[in-house]
Parts: sequence; structure tokens; C-alpha cells
Amino acid sequence: MWGRTSGRCVSPRCPLSVTQCPLSPTASPNETLVIEYVGQNIRQVVADMREKCYAQEGIGSSYLFRVGHDTIIDATKCGNLARFIKHCCTPNCYAKVITIEAQKKIVIYSKQPISVNEEIIQDYKFPIEDTKISCLCRTESCRCTLN
Ligand SMILES: [Zn+2]
Repeated sequence: MWGRTSGRCVSPRCPLSVTQCPLSPTASPNETLVIEYVGQNIRQVVADMREKCYAQEGIGSSYLFRVGHDTIIDATKCGNLARFIKHCCTPNCYAKVITIEAQKKIVIYSKQPISVNEEIIQDYKFPIEDTKISCLCRTESCRCTLN
């Protein structure tokens, strides 16, 4: 089974393909699944309405994470710890969209070994916009903006 590059994961109950599963023999030992970004799967039109409502309610942070052309995961009111992962221009993790039983999910994978008590950080990869959001990561390779 070692060295397989296609098909289902070798673990009998795992729904992932061999290239998606962090436990599969072909995955890099550094690329370990850290956490799933949990929330409600909603369409773009619903996300737009919710974003306005959240602003009116004074909810400053948005936890809307795009997973496809018309699919957004909203972790604002029913998410897990993954929504608190901060941005950094030199991240130790990255987000990956995977499909399990026809449903898109976001999973956070490590890019490198992560020590105990080391903060989990990722690059938000926001699209470029005119109104910039300042980056506060203060790393040597900081891009100064998130978008
Ligand atoms: Zn930065």
C-alpha cells in the first residue's frame, strides 16, 4: 500500500482519497491535519445578507470562508476554534478545500512541524481590493496588507 498515488485512503473508515488524507502513506509527515474549519455551508446571497446583519449587530469580525464559487462556510455563530486562527504572511499552516461525500469542507494542514504552545497561523489569501486591511504579523516577509 505504501507509495500509492490514487484511490481511497488505506484506512477502512476514512472517506478521503489517498492524496487528501494526512494519515495516508503518501502524505508528507509535515502536512498533518490540524483542525477542520467548522460552520454552516451557505450560498453567496445568504452570506451577503448575513454580512450586513452582522455589521448592524456590531459583530466586527467576519468568519465567512469561501470554499467555492457559490459556497461559503459561516463560522460566525456556530464555529469551532479554527475560526480564531490568525493571519501571518509567514504561516505554519494552510487551508485546503476538500470534498467529502459531495460536501466541500475546509481543513487546516500544517506546513511544517509545530511545537507545543506554538501559535497556529495561516495566510488568509484575501483577494486584492482597493480598501486595504493592514497586516500586523511583523515578520520579515510581511506584505503589509492582508488584501
Ligand atoms: Zn504580514
